[in-house]
Amino acid sequence: FLQGRTALVTGSTSGIGLAIAQALGGAGARVALNGLGSHEQIEAAVASVCQAGAPDASFLDADLADAHAVETMMQALSDWGPADIVVNCAGVQHTAPIGEMPAATWDKLIAINLSAAFHTMRLALPGMVGRGFGRVLNIASVHGLVASVNKSPYVASKFGLVGLSKVAALEVAGAGSRDSGGVTVNCVCPGWVETPLIEPQIASRAEASGGDRDAGIRALLAEKQPSGRMSLPADIAATVLFLCRREAHNITGAAIPVDGGWTSQ
Ligand code: NAD
Repeated sequence: FLQGRTALVTGSTSGIGLAIAQALGGAGARVALNGLGSHEQIEAAVASVCQAGAPDASFLDADLADAHAVETMMQALSDWGPADIVVNCAGVQHTAPIGEMPAATWDKLIAINLSAAFHTMRLALPGMVGRGFGRVLNIASVHGLVASVNKSPYVASKFGLVGLSKVAALEVAGAGSRDSGGVTVNCVCPGWVETPLIEPQIASRAEASGGDRDAGIRALLAEKQPSGRMSLPADIAATVLFLCRREAHNITGAAIPVDGGWTSQ
């Protein structure tokens, strides 16, 4: 159902972003990938999106911590095809108590997790409004809805992303029509998802409990995620894919938890 659409997925060389790029490609979209990684990792990611069914896939190199690099990336994207779907998925984590959080780490997390999404949205939304169709999907987190200790910049960036998305949703709410699908801006808020991002947290729980990796995963889940199950990246991608459908034209400004009940407690 996404034939003829062009999508950008930031942070799609790994984890959730890669699964989203594959899902959008599988639904027929042309997909621009972005993210850090070795040449081999990037080539494999692009190839996997083509293999999933994307009629075309490209890689837009940009370190999203740098606002100028985001601008250059968005220019390259609009040269490649107008952006119908923008998924802001790039994100980083650093855990430490606030008194021990390096100021430079704060700046970097806010730049990547929050400011980069502001820049892609400010550059992509006007075109979406003009064409009457657009989807912005911001991959926030349960930490955009509730807090946890030792994650000050991460929680601040994700709450910021949820607020930013609501403002943008309101500003573009009247664009397009029910037939065209309108322009929507939403956040998806995952709980624990099995990706490289959370491996350090799994490892530290495993060490604390004297157990193996599985024990680390069980400890993380037991603390916050009542389902007792990790999500897979593809599970998050399925929610994103639904929100891209025409029928989702009236779902906007939402922050949708995919968290096994975490934020219901
Ligand atoms: P991941 O580490 O597998 O992927 C992160 C992606 O972001 C990678 O492609 C990486 O290259 C990219 N990235 C990091 N810094 C970048 C930069 N400066 N410029 C460009 N790209 C950069 O992690 P993931 O778990 O797939 O995380 C994806 C998103 O999902 C993040 O925003 C994260 O906060 C969010 N999230 C993850 C979980 C989880 O449990 N894994 C839970 C909730 C939310």
